Amino acid sequence: MYEKERGEMVDRLIAFGYLKDPRVAEAMKKVPRHLFVPEDVRRYSYDDAPLPIGEGQTISAPHMVAMMCDHLELEENHKVLEVGGGSGYHACVIAHIVKKGIVISIERMEKLAEKARENLLKAGCSRVKIIVGDGTEGYPPEAPYDRIFVTAGAPRVPEPLIEQLKEGGRLLIPVGSRYTQELLKIDKLPSGRLVKKRVGGCAFVPLIGRYGW
Ligand code: SAM
Repeated sequence: MYEKERGEMVDRLIAFGYLKDPRVAEAMKKVPRHLFVPEDVRRYSYDDAPLPIGEGQTISAPHMVAMMCDHLELEENHKVLEVGGGSGYHACVIAHIVKKGIVISIERMEKLAEKARENLLKAGCSRVKIIVGDGTEGYPPEAPYDRIFVTAGAPRVPEPLIEQLKEGGRLLIPVGSRYTQELLKIDKLPSGRLVKKRVGGCAFVPLIGRYGW
C-alpha cells in the first residue's frame, strides 16, 4: 500500500537535495510511514510534513529524517541510541540501515512508547528496542553508542549523551530555544576531543527532562 507515493516522496527528497546516501533512500522507500501515523492523518503520510501523533507530539517531516540519517553516516554494525522515539518511524528507518547493529529508542511518554511498539510490530521492524524514560540521561545499560541522535529541541547538550558516546562516535542534536533550534553534529575524536559543527536550522518539539527543558 502507498508504494508509489512513498517512492515519489523519496525521489522528491533526492531531487531537492535533502537525501544523498543511497542506503537512506533505500530504507525510506521500504519503511511504510503510513503505519506510524494516526488514521485521521494517514492520507498525508507521504507529504513532506510533520504530522500529529497524539499527546501534543509529532512525527518529524521526511526531509528532516532523511537529513539526519545522512548526517549520521551510519554503518551496518552500529549501535544507535535515539532520544525521542515518538511514533517509532525514524528508529525503524535507522534499523533498516544498521542491519547488523542495535537500535535503542527512548521515549518519555508511556502512551507513545506503547503505540510505537505496536507500529513497529505492524511494520515488521523487530530490531528496535523502545524504552520509556528520560532520554536526556541517555541509556547507560547499553552505552557506549556509535551514534546518538535527538529528535526534540534541547536548551543545551546533555552531558550524559557526550559521556555515553564512543570515541569515534557522533551525536546529532537540535539545540536552541523551545521553538527553533540549530542542528549540531558533534564528533568525539579517538583522542576524546569534541568537534562541533552547525548543520542547519530546525524546529522540533521541546526536549523535556533533567538535562532538557
Ligand atoms: N523520532 C520520532 C518519530 O520518528 O516519530 C519523532 C519525535 S517527536 C518530534 C519528539 C519526541 O521526543 C516526542 O515524542 C516527545 O515525547 C519526546 N521527548 C521529549 N523529551 C524527551 C526526553 N527527555 N526523553 C525521551 N523522549 C522525549
